[in-house]
Amino acid sequence: MNQFSGARPPMMQPQVIILKEGTDTSQGVGQIVSNINACLAVCDTLKATLGPLGMDKLIVDENNRTTISNDGATIINKLEIIHPAARLLVDIAKAQDAEIGDGTTSVVLMAGGILREIKEMIEDGQNPHVIIRGLRAASQMAVNRVNEVALSVDKENDQQMHDLLIKCARTSMSSKLINTSSEFFADLAVRAILTLDKNNMDQKLIGIKKIPGGGMEDSILVDGVAFKKAFSYAGFEQQPKMFTSPKIICLNIELELKSEKDNAEVRIDKVSEYQNVVDAEWKIIFDKLDDIVKSGAQVVLSMLPIGDVATQYFADRQMFCAGRIPSEDMQRVCLSTGAQVISTTSNLQSNLNVLGSCGLFEERQIGGQRINMLTECPKSKSCTLVLRGGAEQFIDEIERSLHDSLMVVKRMIKNNLFVAGGGSIEMELSRYLKQQSRLIEGKQQLIISAVAKALETIPRQLCDNAGFDTIKLMTKLRASHATDPVKNIWVGIDMNTEQEADMFENFVLEPAAIKINAILSSIEASCLILGVDETISSQQQNA
Ligand code: ADP
Repeated sequence: MNQFSGARPPMMQPQVIILKEGTDTSQGVGQIVSNINACLAVCDTLKATLGPLGMDKLIVDENNRTTISNDGATIINKLEIIHPAARLLVDIAKAQDAEIGDGTTSVVLMAGGILREIKEMIEDGQNPHVIIRGLRAASQMAVNRVNEVALSVDKENDQQMHDLLIKCARTSMSSKLINTSSEFFADLAVRAILTLDKNNMDQKLIGIKKIPGGGMEDSILVDGVAFKKAFSYAGFEQQPKMFTSPKIICLNIELELKSEKDNAEVRIDKVSEYQNVVDAEWKIIFDKLDDIVKSGAQVVLSMLPIGDVATQYFADRQMFCAGRIPSEDMQRVCLSTGAQVISTTSNLQSNLNVLGSCGLFEERQIGGQRINMLTECPKSKSCTLVLRGGAEQFIDEIERSLHDSLMVVKRMIKNNLFVAGGGSIEMELSRYLKQQSRLIEGKQQLIISAVAKALETIPRQLCDNAGFDTIKLMTKLRASHATDPVKNIWVGIDMNTEQEADMFENFVLEPAAIKINAILSSIEASCLILGVDETISSQQQNA
């Protein structure tokens, strides 16, 4: 037998290991640098969106749906980021959005700024733990400094507090699509939050309804619960559309005959049985309808469908009904009116406290949509923002921007410490860290001054995005903060004049919590990235 025929002995099998494109097999310094580069790529995607003159992104998803947004959280949510280190950064930025509602772009850019400064140190062989220690020290110094310089207003002074809330809301909107109507929307956002109970500003009690059409300033705030009518039968037209102090019943009961459904199926053995089935069904539904009428309710709301027969029944008795109400709307109706959702009408007569009430109920036509409104509610305070605007994507962006502003206003009411933005607070922190670093010896000095330099990323990017002469403006800013740190503490970038200006006087105000959280998050993200020197896939490898 030929010694070369047959299978090769296993030892001699050539081994070809196939790795997915882009798989990173490096370890140690190589891996850290590769992770830093991945994070810098995320920063590069977001950096052009920062600030009032930042650009929007048009994101197309796999279903060809388009989203136009300037909101950092929305953009990173829509991006399909696979790199594990970049995902870490993204997750931390998302946490900022969930916790504070604003400042996501700043977190990513500041983390990018820090990692860019640190990258060279890593490449030069510095121990990551030494760097992490320095970063944590810088983080603490910066946070303490924000708390030291932050301003506050007297919480009991309603006028001062209201002005501050409006200014903070407007700042949070200044980089968004609604910037041109920021005065209008800031007022809406502040009024919405102020309707809530101060001790429990539950944002779930603020409903948002979007009705395409009209201009964005046609948006309204309903001081109560509003929901869209999902379905309309002929009988609806005969129902009253307005009640004062009505009793309201909330149901999770289907008030629809099976024959009204297009997918109903009834199996019988004899044709004569059919009438019995029909009679039984009519009896069941009429018993329920009678129970509801006897309860004294004038407004009947159900999470399940209310069919043609029931609609006509209520119309004949001058009652109003609406079915298929989304559960979150029903929840707000219950919280506001004191009603409880019931799943059966038996024993209703002896249990009438499940009914709720409100001062005024009305159905209004807004654009092409019917809206039911319950106002002057006796129980928890709630409100609904009815947003208008041309295209659907446009209203979606209004909703996202308002969400950020609502969070900012809420945050300001909880903690009334604020700082000025426009890069001024970052310049002050940068100056302060540089000054402090000089008092420290050794490598830590280098790391703290690296963070000081990274803090300049925000004002620098604000200039870049506005198309200003960044080098000239940054030099001026640095000089102003260095020469008179007390007088010039709030000097930042004036977007209108391409000059430096006092951001406090320009009313560019932000909650201190945004800046504190952004510092903590960006430094935490950087530390996490620096602490990872190998990526090991624990996923099951399928053949
Ligand atoms: P983020 O997601 O970090 O909030 P934004 O795109 O909303 O990002 O930009 C916020 C930055 O823009 C903050 O540094 C803020 O101080 C700054 N900024 C907002 N309004 C103004 C303004 N009118 N003039 C100068 N800077 C502003």
